[in-house]
Amino acid sequence: MELGDVLKARMITRRDFIKMVTAAAAALGLSEILPPNFAQAAAKPPVVWLHGQECTGCSESVLSGLAGPCWDQPNPVDVILDVVEIKYHETIMAAAGEVAEHALEEAIKQGGYVLVVEGSIPAADKRFLYVGGKPLEATFVDAAKNAAAILAVGACATYGGINRPTPSKGRGVDYFLQKYKINKPLINLPGCPVRPEWFFGTVIHYLTKGVPQLDRFKRPVLYFGKTVHSECPRKHHYDEGRFLFDWNDPKQADYCLFFKGCKGYVTFSDCPNLLWNDGANWCIGVNAPCSGCTEPSFYPGLSPLFKLRED
Ligand code: SF4
Ligand code: SF4
Repeated sequence: MELGDVLKARMITRRDFIKMVTAAAAALGLSEILPPNFAQAAAKPPVVWLHGQECTGCSESVLSGLAGPCWDQPNPVDVILDVVEIKYHETIMAAAGEVAEHALEEAIKQGGYVLVVEGSIPAADKRFLYVGGKPLEATFVDAAKNAAAILAVGACATYGGINRPTPSKGRGVDYFLQKYKINKPLINLPGCPVRPEWFFGTVIHYLTKGVPQLDRFKRPVLYFGKTVHSECPRKHHYDEGRFLFDWNDPKQADYCLFFKGCKGYVTFSDCPNLLWNDGANWCIGVNAPCSGCTEPSFYPGLSPLFKLRED
């Protein structure tokens, strides 16, 4: 179905669609870069989405995170999802078993898709994760070779995350691209889970302007250019030496969480500015220290989460 058909089925005019996308671009921090012809540019890019060792939280976050305030009204992301052609996604596709695996093989044969990877790939032994009778590592290598670009979403797919210190030795996409000498554009979108704005904003950027500017860990600078600490609303307490030691003391309620294990000073992300859940709140806003979920060293290198590290 072409974009025009999708809009017609949803009873949305093209003009309204462009207005909606413009509003979404503002929410995603992309107003500056989004061209007026985005609606034409976003014509059905194919997407193959692989699941590794993960909790599916990143799929949940991406699919539900930007739902509009009224569930019965279309929002720009609904429409964007309609015009992106999802060729394979184990959680949301209707097909199962051999039919699903055949769809994946066909998509890989055709090539030219955006490969999204959610979850880590076991590096200790291929037998830790088989899907459709094949080790995930082999499926990933086949899919990566024919992809136009690769998006690793979430802490596990980017740098190994929670699975890194487990017996499976989960590793991120870049580890396997290097192991098999596969040279494809890779964008890392870390986080536990990934923020929907990071995902959709990066997809829109890629479709309209190509790969965004990346930092040394292959994260878009647009979203991961500053530390949480530098933008934190509690920073003035840090600067003036007011720290929370007792959760039960109302006077300390909005003091700096440094001594409660906050890793905001080494963590790069725009959480303090864009917040989570459509701007409702964020970790530090609800008195939970930043655990550094967007950093390559998360989780083993930044734990314990609720205590100041000795080093
Ligand atoms: S709460 Fe964390 S991020 Fe905020 S000022 Fe304190 S150490 Fe920095
Ligand atoms: S505030 Fe820290 S722990 Fe919370 S989502 Fe942002 S980067 Fe992750």
